[in-house]
Amino acid sequence: MAERPKVCIDRVLPTELMRPQRTMRTKSGERAISPIGKTWMNGSTLRVRFMGGTANEQATVREQSGWWAQVANLKFDFNNAANAEIRIAFDSNDGAWSYVGTDCRSIPVNQPTMNLGFLDGGTTAHEFGHAIALAHEHQNPRGGIQWNEQVVIQELAKSPNFWDEETVRHNVIRKYSIDQINGTEFDPDSIMLYFFPASWTLNGIATKANEVLSTIDKQFIAGAKMYPKTGGTTTTAVELEVNAKRRTAASIGKFGEEDLFRFTAASDGRYQIDTRGSTDIVMKLFGPNSETALIAEDDDSGVDTNALISRDLVAGQYFVQVRHYNRASGKGNYSIKVQRL
Ligand SMILES: [Zn+2]
Repeated sequence: MAERPKVCIDRVLPTELMRPQRTMRTKSGERAISPIGKTWMNGSTLRVRFMGGTANEQATVREQSGWWAQVANLKFDFNNAANAEIRIAFDSNDGAWSYVGTDCRSIPVNQPTMNLGFLDGGTTAHEFGHAIALAHEHQNPRGGIQWNEQVVIQELAKSPNFWDEETVRHNVIRKYSIDQINGTEFDPDSIMLYFFPASWTLNGIATKANEVLSTIDKQFIAGAKMYPKTGGTTTTAVELEVNAKRRTAASIGKFGEEDLFRFTAASDGRYQIDTRGSTDIVMKLFGPNSETALIAEDDDSGVDTNALISRDLVAGQYFVQVRHYNRASGKGNYSIKVQRL
């Protein structure tokens, strides 16, 4: 008998299920609903807390998370901090799953953001892929898989998954629309692809269990869209003066480039950060005093296709990450300003 597939869940926040997802680019003054970005700030150190686990299990976590840290501009610090970004349980009755990227910040600190109910093969590396904002490769819209939906729904209703139809549709069948993901062409060797038998598909495509990072996994996570080692980090962020007389000129000089700024909110109050120019900018705000706490992301709330974020902030240090809407083929000049309103 064939091994029963162990399928991973990339957990989605309950609020996300309710949130309309933009699937098309809108023109004119119509306000689009921005999908919430889930990548951590490039150069982040993500702290990890073990909520159980044997010495062997914890060693596997250190080893396989290191596969990503070797290629991505991210560090993992196993300091067991109470409010660590990644908190790992080892409940053998709860399968293997992880929240995706910065969604981990929304989970109460007494609860895990990842469960490793089994650690076969490359499972731990796979779950860390989710934790650093990767989705499932079998949901790649460029993938060639045509699911036999009846079979998939029947099989995953059985042990060990016990999923209802909606869960199967979310975790397996639904493909991300091309606009929602920063993807590569379908990669059959990706660690983010799980094993499926050919009988689950109409076109006889079987997948294999991948136990190490593929060449494309490594290139993608280290690439401009994710965590390039050459990218800006919090130590090289450009300081913005609040209420400066002049706007700060900047440029997305290369495809996929991300610019990083920092500013200090000297007192509690409402602050506004906006960009100007003809470049279609997407902006993220992190803080206070944290490079991993995402406060807001905006695409087109500003003038034309510019970004604007206006928020009540407590005094502290904040980071602003700026990129072009189209990471693959967009670049151009812009200016940025932060004001206390
Ligand atoms: Zn998964």
